[in-house]
Amino acid sequence: MSGKQGWHHSPTEALKVGPGFSLADFDPGATPGWHGNKADAVPEMDKRGKDLEALQEQLFARGKEGDKRSVLLVIQGLDTAGKDGIVSHVVGLVNPIGVKITGFGVPTEEERKHPYLWRIRNALPAAGQVGVFDRSHYEQVLIVRVHNLVPQATWETYYDELNAFEAEVAAAGTTMVKIALMVSPREQLKRLEARLDDPTKYWKYNPKDLDERGLWNEYQAAYQAIFDRCSPASSPWYAIPGDAKWYARLAVTEILATAMEGLGLTWPEATFDVAAEKARIAALDPDAPELRSNGAPSASAKP
Ligand code: AMP
Ligand code: MG
Repeated sequence: MSGKQGWHHSPTEALKVGPGFSLADFDPGATPGWHGNKADAVPEMDKRGKDLEALQEQLFARGKEGDKRSVLLVIQGLDTAGKDGIVSHVVGLVNPIGVKITGFGVPTEEERKHPYLWRIRNALPAAGQVGVFDRSHYEQVLIVRVHNLVPQATWETYYDELNAFEAEVAAAGTTMVKIALMVSPREQLKRLEARLDDPTKYWKYNPKDLDERGLWNEYQAAYQAIFDRCSPASSPWYAIPGDAKWYARLAVTEILATAMEGLGLTWPEATFDVAAEKARIAALDPDAPELRSNGAPSASAKP
């Protein structure tokens, strides 16, 4: 094996949750598949970011032409896991015009009048869009399960329901990429503390986060159950080590770009005669005196 920096093992394989995956053996501080350090990640991030930008534009262009396909990045993770950072540093690499980002918090009064998938369905990306869920339908088997906001007999039914929902979304043309950002308890505490040391971060701090942290093991069990029950080969989870933010962002960029490359997108062909249009332009006067600028009448304009 050469010592060259870069991905020696694609995160699409290295981080994919398959049968037998065990969170107990998972290291949130590791950087699987990547040979190199944080500085080495900068040019790679730049390169794959440009790929991602082009892929998103192709998807958008194809959508305008009637292609029904879309992409949905589902981001889960405990408080401070780095969900916002993925939105700004990975999703932020593409043109916002084709992106639909939805954050899911405690359901509103209106949302509570409907089945829990109602607000999720409303937020699905349209044809040609990249949708992003900051938290998602999986909160139904995370916070709802951990706090027994509904009886266990009810939340137990959600796993099958989520799988059926995702199969339906896939059949409608949406490629879902599910990432779970996993931080270590030590790193989480460090990040929570840092929020209190910085007045510009107070808004991100919620005293309830410490109570949720107290349920750490329950949340780990809930994540394990999601991985066991909702990671079919057709819609797998990716468990992303989250302690090194640069690695998590690099890995998610790679996983998302690879998923979009799998769509086999190409630029739409011209629907007009390119040579003929070029000839028309060449025949035009760039200084066209008859065209007004700034609304002022041109010198040659007749009254
Ligand atoms: P944040 O992501 O920090 O804005 O917090 C959003 C909060 O909303 C988190 O504590 C989530 O667990 C909570 N939340 C999201 N979805 C649900 C849900 N379906 N039921 C109850 N709480 C939820
Ligand atoms: Mg929070």
